[in-house]
Amino acid sequence: MTNFLRCASIFVFCFLFVSVSYVFGVEEYVKNEVLVKFKDSTVVESNDVFKLHKKIDAKYRSNFKIFNNFQVITLPEGVSVKSAISFYEKSPFIEFAEPNYIYRAFDFNPDPFFREQWGLNNTGQHSGKVGADIDAIFAWGISEGSRDVVVAVIDTGVDYSHPDLVNNIWKNKGEVGQYISNEGQTLDRAKDGIDNDGNGFIDDVYGWNFYKKTNDPKDDHGHGTHCAGIIGASHNGIGIMGVAPNVSIMSLKFLGAAGNGTLEDGILATEYAILNGAHILSNSWGGDGYSKAMFDVIEQANKKGILYVAAAGNDHSNNDTQPTYPASYPNKNVVSVAASDRHDQAAYFTNWGKTSVHLAAPGMSIFSTIKDGQYKSYSGTSMACPHVAGAAAVLKSYFPEMSHVQIKERILSTTQRNAYFENLVASGGRLNLFNALANKVPEPEPDPTEWIFNNHQLSSPHKYPPLAKLSWTIHHPGAKFIKVHFKNLVTEKRVDYIAIKNYLSDVKETLSGNQGSMWTRAIEGDTLIIELRSDSINEFFGFEVDQYAVVLDES
Ligand code: CA
Ligand code: CA
Repeated sequence: MTNFLRCASIFVFCFLFVSVSYVFGVEEYVKNEVLVKFKDSTVVESNDVFKLHKKIDAKYRSNFKIFNNFQVITLPEGVSVKSAISFYEKSPFIEFAEPNYIYRAFDFNPDPFFREQWGLNNTGQHSGKVGADIDAIFAWGISEGSRDVVVAVIDTGVDYSHPDLVNNIWKNKGEVGQYISNEGQTLDRAKDGIDNDGNGFIDDVYGWNFYKKTNDPKDDHGHGTHCAGIIGASHNGIGIMGVAPNVSIMSLKFLGAAGNGTLEDGILATEYAILNGAHILSNSWGGDGYSKAMFDVIEQANKKGILYVAAAGNDHSNNDTQPTYPASYPNKNVVSVAASDRHDQAAYFTNWGKTSVHLAAPGMSIFSTIKDGQYKSYSGTSMACPHVAGAAAVLKSYFPEMSHVQIKERILSTTQRNAYFENLVASGGRLNLFNALANKVPEPEPDPTEWIFNNHQLSSPHKYPPLAKLSWTIHHPGAKFIKVHFKNLVTEKRVDYIAIKNYLSDVKETLSGNQGSMWTRAIEGDTLIIELRSDSINEFFGFEVDQYAVVLDES
């Protein structure tokens, strides 16, 4: 099936390099060409026809064998397809003119649950925004990845017998196959109780379980398998498709069934990945604690040319002021990933950081594999991180000569930028795998809105009381969008929350911890509600508002 898709997409891909542009949408056509059909009465090779082309300085070619009264016209700069069609159709020599359409093969056969994977191909399913995706179908026309690229999932383990993953599971070549022992017995390396490859781990076929100190890194939680499916579920006619449908996934379990693990086991897992051939490490876990030892082991990975992709965290806080590790380690190989939603906005829970978080990737309602051969939707920066790890794997397979830092730079320079991400992440945008493969740097979408700022003083009690459930409403008649600026905001992190709600009392954003001075996200409507909720202990400052902003409804 993929051959047809490949042809169609390579066609488009080539255009990028000869800088003939095209449009995505209902109709795609070559931007500087039209096709004309001459009337039967016209002599195609006549002086009249030559003069007609000369009028708009167009060049022509005629390659058709049977349809010898057709020509393909190449238009000079500044002449649009639309105006050329109307020009030619006015001529008495022409029967009709039409765009040189670009067609695509219809027989791309995605796996059955691909329709749920809005992050890979957003057709507006479940009221999402069409095109708010990583352009996976176009990207796969260039490359679906390669089994030669190894991505280590450092997590709760991987269900390596999941039907959608089994073909893309890394196997330690030194621990598989049979051999004849000195006693003449036929033995299986995978089960002989011997460290055949001498890497310090006995019978480590799929990776290692650092949590239970065994050779079985099977997932007893679901989280690691979910990440693995996002990276590399197979294109095999069942279930979903990973960002890299061809890849090798190494399973390094250091988080237990409850999702917790130690620094020591995290370092051991990272070491294993470095020493056993992983190219990309996917880390959908974290905490507040800085560890010099973890920094050092990530630097070892950096020196060996290994990319370290990490989830930015789900506390809706600013990693520039409140770091989350490992995402916030400053090593050059670290890529910190925030979560976007199906509307191409930041997911309500995601951490951000204009300097320390690099890009956004789909992380809200992501459908993927879980343990015991099942599938489920999860949300989190945990889901955003493996989208980037999978994208890095496809780039690595297609550009094997690229260094890990070049891959990182390529991913960041080609993100799909918009106003929502501009102030949240360093690249200002969301992952786009096709752009990364084609080295297409998109223009940022301009902020379509004109903000009007209003001074406005509003404060919670300082400190706020225990068991508070307080709310304040800002109402600006005629506003289409509204957002509020906190001069200061401090609550007990992850326990006491400030919720930002719209006029329907839908929670649009939650804030917790020490946020300092910040703007909330813009919400639709003329009303914004601030709600403060606290538990029975540890009261903090609360908040102080000094202004809000609105976009007025023009209509
Ligand atoms: Ca071994
Ligand atoms: Ca599949």
